[in-house]
Amino acid sequence: MDYYGSQMSKLIEQLSLLPGIGTKTAQRLAFHIIRMPKERVEQLAAAMLNARSNIRYCRECCTLTDQELCPICSSPTRDKRTIMVVENTRDLAAYEKTGKYEGVYHVLHGAISPMLGIGPADIRLKELMQRLQGDVGEVIIATNSSLEGETTAMYISRLIKPTGIKVTRIASGVPVGGDLEYIDEVTLLRALEGRVEL
Ligand code: ZN
Repeated sequence: MDYYGSQMSKLIEQLSLLPGIGTKTAQRLAFHIIRMPKERVEQLAAAMLNARSNIRYCRECCTLTDQELCPICSSPTRDKRTIMVVENTRDLAAYEKTGKYEGVYHVLHGAISPMLGIGPADIRLKELMQRLQGDVGEVIIATNSSLEGETTAMYISRLIKPTGIKVTRIASGVPVGGDLEYIDEVTLLRALEGRVEL
């Protein structure tokens, strides 16, 4: 029996498809939305549509951006010879917040996970290897210290080693399994400064 009417049920169903949102939360959000002023709902819908249609991957580092080249890659002051490899754009944002890193990034959009069936071809590794054909002095691997992050770090270092480019891994001061984005700036900086050559 449809207690809410089909429009409301459709809204609840769509919301419940979002990650981390169960049926109860979807219902609460749906009721909140229909009580919102119509203009606010229009703004919300427009923001979602605009973000979805205008955000793409940076041509250089693969981070999410609304330009062809992200602000970091197009900055003349960043050191293009140092590339920090991170799992996602949120990790990049965490390092940027420290304000101390002057190199550029490469965003993998995931990590290798044999358990989840995610292989090297499923993340932005090919793009990284292409970048390494340019003038690169050091690759800092800053994937998470989870099993997937470590597997990815090992895989990447083995790929890069034969090129002769210096490969380093951020220090393991980062809590095991901890998502980089939840770690404070001091810990991140310490991990970066204490990086070791692989
Ligand atoms: Zn970029």
